Amino acid sequence: MSLSDELYRETILDHYHHPRNQGALEHPSVEVEGVNPLCGDELTLYLDVEDGTISQVRLKSRGCSINMASGSMMTEVIAGQTLERAEELIDKFKYMMLNKDEAVVLPEEMEDLEALQGVKRYPVRIKCALLPWNTLQESISSLRTQAAVDGQTIKGKMITTEE
Ligand code: ZN
Repeated sequence: MSLSDELYRETILDHYHHPRNQGALEHPSVEVEGVNPLCGDELTLYLDVEDGTISQVRLKSRGCSINMASGSMMTEVIAGQTLERAEELIDKFKYMMLNKDEAVVLPEEMEDLEALQGVKRYPVRIKCALLPWNTLQESISSLRTQAAVDGQTIKGKMITTEE
């Protein structure tokens, strides 16, 4: 194992054992559930959005280390971002995970997520890494397409990983 593999492994295990921003928001702007039946990963993402900016984020997740670490790192990266920027970050993360050949360099604010690059070698686990990001994408599109009623949470459709 190379030094960077070792560091990547430590980063993943740290987020797995101490996931950041775990829990629920009581009255979020939007919430979306995601499940990955292939692995047993389950999560619910809660976002508070004020004036187009993600002001608070919580994630309730259960599952494998790849899913937990990806979600935990995602919550750290997207807090305080505009929805437009969050969408750019989703694209960058997906590009990294789905681009088999190249090593991809992520923007500085999300460089810890490069730790998941090694997962590309295991196609089944790519879905574990993408699940939190797919629920984020659904959250943002639900916010854009569903009319907000004061004080009510928008619920996006459940994201299910397909085989
Ligand atoms: Zn998994």
